[in-house]
Amino acid sequence: MLGRFLAGALAGLAGLGAALAQPYPSRPITVIVPFSAGGPTDAIARTLGERMRASLGQTVLVENVTGAGGTIGVARAAQAAPDGYTLSLGHLGTHVVNGAIYPLKFDLLNDFEPIALVASNPMMVVSKNDVPAKNLRELIEWLKANPGEVAAGTAGIGSGSHFSAVYLQKLTGVAFNFVPYRGTGPALQDLVAGQIDMIVDQASNSMAQVQGGKIRAYAVTADKRLSAAPDIPTSDEAGLPGFHISLWTALWAPKGTPRDVIAKLNAAVVDALADPTVGQRFVAAGLEIPPRQQQTPEALGAHHRAEIDKWWPIIKAANIKAE
Ligand code: ASP
Repeated sequence: MLGRFLAGALAGLAGLGAALAQPYPSRPITVIVPFSAGGPTDAIARTLGERMRASLGQTVLVENVTGAGGTIGVARAAQAAPDGYTLSLGHLGTHVVNGAIYPLKFDLLNDFEPIALVASNPMMVVSKNDVPAKNLRELIEWLKANPGEVAAGTAGIGSGSHFSAVYLQKLTGVAFNFVPYRGTGPALQDLVAGQIDMIVDQASNSMAQVQGGKIRAYAVTADKRLSAAPDIPTSDEAGLPGFHISLWTALWAPKGTPRDVIAKLNAAVVDALADPTVGQRFVAAGLEIPPRQQQTPEALGAHHRAEIDKWWPIIKAANIKAE
């Protein structure tokens, strides 16, 4: 009896040993995207994941875990096993701003291991075509003339599209209503269909619809025009100086993920960002790839901390409520 028990226990240990000895990655990796499929964060995850597969030799799956401005998906990733098989893709909204708005059960900085900064993107102020304004000044006049009547789509409280629109309101003194979605993919569909009036949208999301003439763009929140959309003025040029937002996206793993696993994942991101196909896709969407020296885990850690220091006082002063 004891002999059989011992034999079983030893067989179990041998199995565990074999599993531990498996080189990473030995099965598919899941990237949790905290917004809807078809939106900008999702698009970045899919382009990146597809190319990371070539380096890692394993499929990179995207799981959309949406709701509450991305906090539900980020919480899921924070609680996942730190084994390199569940990762968190997010941005300035989900991994910085939300910490100043929501009572989170995890620590945005200390419960994650940075892997790499992936891309940066300005926001683009866009409206449906039948809004009468033809430029940003006219849009602000129109918003002033219709207080509380305009519907702006967002990806939920704290998302890029939300806090950027709050920032626009503060800078101009205009008031409009927010319509929350689970991501700006569905918000953009409703804008094209004329169900909502405007979005302060991530440029990569709106770009194709602006270029196709389906919606109108007024400005990008950067100090330089986008090479993919040279006709769209910067906010400084369009009459709203200082309205600058760089929505950067990055990849993290749960705290405690082994160093060698982080190094493999970082190398796969670096490979992907150096791939001309990825580069062309990103540039066409107005996404900027960080310089090579900023693609390290250490650089992301430092940037993340600096952005928390910069944005938390601003967001807390804006007194944005989670509900
Ligand atoms: N990144 C978008 C936002 O924060 C949401 C999305 O990816 O769908 O507004």
